[in-house]
Amino acid sequence: MLLKVTGLTAVIVATLPRVAFAARNSLRTVRTGVQPGNKTRLVIETSARPSYSISYPNNQIVITLSNTSANHSLAPAMAAGTLVTAITQVQSGDKLQIIADLAQPIKQIPRESIMLLNPNGDNDYRLVIDFMAGTGANAATVASSQTNNTAVKQKTTPARKYTIVIDAGHGGKDPGCIGKGGTKEKVIVLSVAKKLKDKLSAAGFNTYLTRSDDTYLKLAQRASIGEKKHADLFLSLHANANPSRSMKGFSIYTLSEKASDEEAQKLADAENAADKIDVSGFEQFDKDIRIALSSLQQHAVAAMSVEYAKGCASQFKRAKITQQPGPDVRHAPFAVLRSTVPGALIELGHLSNASEESLLKSASHQDKLVAAIVKSVQAYDFDV
Ligand SMILES: [Zn+2]
Repeated sequence: MLLKVTGLTAVIVATLPRVAFAARNSLRTVRTGVQPGNKTRLVIETSARPSYSISYPNNQIVITLSNTSANHSLAPAMAAGTLVTAITQVQSGDKLQIIADLAQPIKQIPRESIMLLNPNGDNDYRLVIDFMAGTGANAATVASSQTNNTAVKQKTTPARKYTIVIDAGHGGKDPGCIGKGGTKEKVIVLSVAKKLKDKLSAAGFNTYLTRSDDTYLKLAQRASIGEKKHADLFLSLHANANPSRSMKGFSIYTLSEKASDEEAQKLADAENAADKIDVSGFEQFDKDIRIALSSLQQHAVAAMSVEYAKGCASQFKRAKITQQPGPDVRHAPFAVLRSTVPGALIELGHLSNASEESLLKSASHQDKLVAAIVKSVQAYDFDV
């Protein structure tokens, strides 16, 4: 009994008879996507928590689901640019095999790249597998060892700790913007960043700060810390200044080479100007900061960043933190966000506004900002 799907639309080559046994589980959907780092993501959605094994013989990945019935009207959502060329379902007794044909052999799939997610929102249980093309001798070895050792058993839910890199903007000779009362942006954002690190660590995340003291860092250096730590999310914290002293509120930005509006472009220019500050004795720690991203990767990173940023804006609003007039999420070419790590630049408020300046200095308001960001990170769907 075979159902085969090729390309972007479903082509049913054989009609699957309704299954005679009463399976505990049933297949809902299969979809593929492109992930940062040139990875292909395969998502298998089932009505109940799946019991599964995975093997990946040459140019295939085979997922065997026990006690599961096929979906006779399956129309997999096949993204362009993945390694998957076709998906086939094979029902054998109460076992359902999902076979993905691949354009190339793949590298060994590390345990943390196989995730089992509980239902949320519109999604049922999801088995998520990320993999990438293998190269040269390495791939051949993996492939042959896989044929000898047919199935990689994954019986327990893989626990993966997500990594968050928190970037306190400015520092050292670069104070950032300065409030009427003399409050420096670099001081406020470092204080919030440290509190955020503590709270996120307590909530079970791996956390790193780009700077933990009053140090100047180039923007690319900050971005490359996100890369080096293999961060899942990069958060750059800032506070704003506006020629109009009455302007207040937070605003949230993601990377785009074209700004969403003139104000966003001006802000990006101001934040990017941090790199123009001359600091003698500074050693370039990473010259090659322009990571060559394929357009598909850029698209995936941008989509994940916007998803995070929207969730972040909604947590801020829920916490009744004043929002700067304008859209929830804006886009601009912020150098600090230029990487393969999804992320956002959060302007916590306006130091140019007297009342907001004193709020930003207060421990209680900083705690409120931190609590909202923690919620936004917890609510963010890191996997799909
Ligand atoms: Zn700033």
